[in-house]
Amino acid sequence: MKESILHYIWQHKLFTPHSLQTTEGEKVEIIDVGKINTDAGPDFFNAKIKIGETLWAGNVEIHTRASDWKNHNHQADQAYNSVILHVVKKADMDIFRLDGEKIPQIELIYPQHIEENYEKLIAEQKWIPCAEKIGNVPAIFIQSWKTTLLTERLEQKMNAISQLLDNNNQHWEEAFYITLARSFGFGTNSQAFEALAKSLPLSALGKHKNNILQIEALLFGQAGLLTEQMSDEYSFQLKKEFDFLKAKFNLQPLKPEQWKLLRLRPDNFPHIRIAQFAGLIHGSSKLFSRIVEQPEIKYLNELFTCETSDYWKTHYLFGHESTQRTKKFGKTSINSILINTVIPFLFCYASQKGMQELKDKALQLLESLQAEQNAVITGWKSVGLQAENAFDSQALLQLKKYYCDDKKCLRCRIGHKVLTF
Ligand code: SF4
Repeated sequence: MKESILHYIWQHKLFTPHSLQTTEGEKVEIIDVGKINTDAGPDFFNAKIKIGETLWAGNVEIHTRASDWKNHNHQADQAYNSVILHVVKKADMDIFRLDGEKIPQIELIYPQHIEENYEKLIAEQKWIPCAEKIGNVPAIFIQSWKTTLLTERLEQKMNAISQLLDNNNQHWEEAFYITLARSFGFGTNSQAFEALAKSLPLSALGKHKNNILQIEALLFGQAGLLTEQMSDEYSFQLKKEFDFLKAKFNLQPLKPEQWKLLRLRPDNFPHIRIAQFAGLIHGSSKLFSRIVEQPEIKYLNELFTCETSDYWKTHYLFGHESTQRTKKFGKTSINSILINTVIPFLFCYASQKGMQELKDKALQLLESLQAEQNAVITGWKSVGLQAENAFDSQALLQLKKYYCDDKKCLRCRIGHKVLTF
């Protein structure tokens, strides 16, 4: 049996309280199980426990067998001198502190089905271990867990944004520009896009924001894509502009090999995404400030339509003409950028500035967007959990990646219900 299930039973007070007594036969009353300790040292800090007529305050150590105390050499470790109670499944020996004093022990008694349910769950090979049982968990309970999961996901994203802000002198526009560029790579070219934005300061683009040719020259040139044979007037102009701007801003272009075209639909070619990014930069200055001022779905949809310049309406690559077609972002692409970049940035900004209304607005935006469509969300649907909107899908992605995949069912609120059915 795993020790973690004993921790879980202790932490959630799932033991049978009236049956508790030390191995010496003294009655034990648990006033407070203490706070779980994730660092070195005893498992729970600051517990309050009445043994016989004496109230003790201190730490608790938990093991499957009492002899694990000795196996782990705790009897020689100062950190374990403060243990007031040793909680075990099987008390196979007495244990002692460094000074030789005996430590009270209890054998934990709890409903056997908790342990059986846990073992079944951990052995399960289905898409998620609780696939057969999740249908019995009340919807209202799952909804409140989703809210916690979503908060957890946004906090993770906020940590990444804070790190980026630290690296960019707390410059919100620059950090937003880098993250936004990454999202234009849609996975396959995300790293290259991020490298492009990091190597090309927003201030350089800002100085030329009213001239689309110069914006495109800076982006395509810095992306390393103007080394191709420039075979038409537009490409030739771009190259000429970039040669000038490169010297002006002392730029070192990326290597063209960073960009991937293999297995991409032409609409996703980096050339088209860069042209759309150029269109966005050209049409808007102080992008993040404008979003903060107007965090409305209609405005955001218009802003991220991201149309290309005329040349790219008839090209997918330099010098290769194709049928004319407007290449702007579709709904799915806009949603992806709003979900993964815009909303986390809004939430982070609102949190740091103490703007509760804007924080609420960011969450409302998430609720107003369609759920993402991918294999994980389809998997959840197959076990009966339908993502109604992006709030739900983000929460479910978090649950699968950080709990189910690692079988962290003891830390999951659905797991709590499943274990105690
Ligand atoms: S982590 Fe939660 S939802 Fe995932 S399998 Fe375990 S109990 Fe089920």
